[in-house]
Amino acid sequence: MKLAERMSRIGTETAFEVLVRARALEAQGRKVIHLEIGEPDFATPSHIIEAAKRALEEGWTHYGPTQGYPDLREAVAAYISRTRGIRVGPERVAVVPGGKPIIFFPMLALLEPGDEVIYPNPGFPIYESMIRFLGAVPVPMPLVEERGFAMDLNLLRDRLNDRTRMLILNSPQNPTGGVIPREDLGAIAEMVRDRDLMVLSDEIYSRIYYGEPPASIAGFPGMLEKTILLDGFSKTYAMTGWRIGYGVMPPWLVEAVNKLMVNSNSCTASFTQRAALAALNGPQEDVDRMVAEFRRRRDAFCDGLNSLPGFRCARPHGAFYAFPNIEATGFSSRELAERLLEEAGVACLSGTAFGAYGEGYLRFSYANSYENLMQAIERIRAWMAVPARG
Ligand code: PLP
Repeated sequence: MKLAERMSRIGTETAFEVLVRARALEAQGRKVIHLEIGEPDFATPSHIIEAAKRALEEGWTHYGPTQGYPDLREAVAAYISRTRGIRVGPERVAVVPGGKPIIFFPMLALLEPGDEVIYPNPGFPIYESMIRFLGAVPVPMPLVEERGFAMDLNLLRDRLNDRTRMLILNSPQNPTGGVIPREDLGAIAEMVRDRDLMVLSDEIYSRIYYGEPPASIAGFPGMLEKTILLDGFSKTYAMTGWRIGYGVMPPWLVEAVNKLMVNSNSCTASFTQRAALAALNGPQEDVDRMVAEFRRRRDAFCDGLNSLPGFRCARPHGAFYAFPNIEATGFSSRELAERLLEEAGVACLSGTAFGAYGEGYLRFSYANSYENLMQAIERIRAWMAVPARG
């Protein structure tokens, strides 16, 4: 039995593969510092765990509404209205198992073979994977290091045409930590407002930023009807394994996502929705503490990277990734990432794991302890000091 042809076009996330290789080295007794995986190293705040336990005991163990419980959708709508400066109601909210389904379902619902999709490159690999899987045409937008990894707006203008059906934005961004400036979002909104396309705005890192709060394109005039806003609980509340997230989109698209949900998951787990409600309505100090700690690590880790020969790392404005330029080391991204894992015991990702325009960069997640991050810097320094490599 052969797999369907479309399966030859679906991609994957290298982070999980590198994790498996790192674990194999550990099984041989090697010590590896894990800077490859993109999830907070903090525990889920205890009041959220308590809410989930209570929900299980109270019997939130059955099917629920496909679109999500009304009170959670109300809370999400109020939260998005407050944080994005827009007014949305619960009818626009789809609760799903994680942020990823808000990439999967709306793309499945909207794209025909041959449709063009503009997406950031380097960027989250699932975008390109899904574009290819659906037979749509990937149109990569290189990000500009000198502009804090924002897009070149003139290039974007050139790439928009009558076949463009979707534009994907991600801010704060994985893997660069870039935040799209408000003025850029305004200019992008101008460019796309009268076009027959949807913007997928991936805002999963919306609460992890180190300057001004990131703006959402959904807040610009006329854009609410053209935007699929993706957010969730995985990164903000350290809930990656709970599998709960949401999308905010026009009601006609919510309806399509509901149909895809009925055909796949039926609904998001009921007790995790009670926990998510507690996350949104409860104390936020744990989030603030986590972000403050990420900032401390970012500053020290980027300084450390900049002290390594051939590394250049701008301080990212959001998320928890450092994306240093390593061209001056003389290594390709892939070779350097592989040798740092095998020979220095530091697991990171090649920039090319995020697309062809990631060549010349590495991605390090600083969701690891301050001590481990500093140790990683010293391991890389010692490895590079061997004359044949430095
Ligand atoms: N979008 C981006 C940019 C991400 O980096 C991730 C996770 O790494 C996701 C979406 C998926 O989030 P979730 O774990 O909630 O599905």
